[in-house]
Amino acid sequence: MIDIHCHILPGVDDGAADMKVSLNMARKAVEAGITHIFATPHHLNEKYVNVKSDIIDRAVRLNESFQLEKIPLTIHLGQEVRIHRDIFTSLEKEEILTLDDNGTYMLLELPSGRVPSYTQEVIYELLLKGITPIIVHPERNKELIGNHKLLFELVQEGALTQITSGSIIGDFGKSIQSFSKKIIQHNLAHFIATDAHNIGSRGFTLQQAYETITKAYGIQRTYYFKENAEQLLKDQSPAVEKPLPFKKKILGIF
Ligand code: FE
Repeated sequence: MIDIHCHILPGVDDGAADMKVSLNMARKAVEAGITHIFATPHHLNEKYVNVKSDIIDRAVRLNESFQLEKIPLTIHLGQEVRIHRDIFTSLEKEEILTLDDNGTYMLLELPSGRVPSYTQEVIYELLLKGITPIIVHPERNKELIGNHKLLFELVQEGALTQITSGSIIGDFGKSIQSFSKKIIQHNLAHFIATDAHNIGSRGFTLQQAYETITKAYGIQRTYYFKENAEQLLKDQSPAVEKPLPFKKKILGIF
């Protein structure tokens, strides 16, 4: 399996503290059936700044350590970019790292409590530059939980979204779990990823999430998510199903 969102790089953010923890996380990821991880350290959130050149250096070193330790896992380049007024300045300074540095897909994080007024403008500008933003864990954003229509609008505009595996299996509570399922039912989710920070409470629950999705919606839906992650690895366009507005009644298992 491919994990497109993970804090496995050592000593850069609130994920792996050092190389020892990174290697432990890597072993757990392999046990959990993961073969490729996009390492996506925080950037421009209030605490952490991790620019492209640093991430590339560290990712190269981590892959070298996996070879030495014979861990069958490949690290790909990425970054979790917090939406910020300076996002385009950072882009001009070549600090922003798109997935695998291909210039096509970027993980975009909203603050947990709200959706800034300039969000739609940032999405629009990124799309104009050929970068498709993938909004990470919209199911955990308080404003979106209260305003489903806004998420629909962001996806209609051209943003993609990634739901966190732990949200689907209930690790973040009932309301986030139920919103995750609504997002999937309305074709507003395009990827599932772990957003793993450690091997404990924020670990590699991708397989469990896919099993939950298969049980609820059938194996096709799981294939859809898995294939979309594979497309990113090949720098090809993921499948995007037509978003369904929230006013329609959706018949589902949940
Ligand atoms: Fe994250």
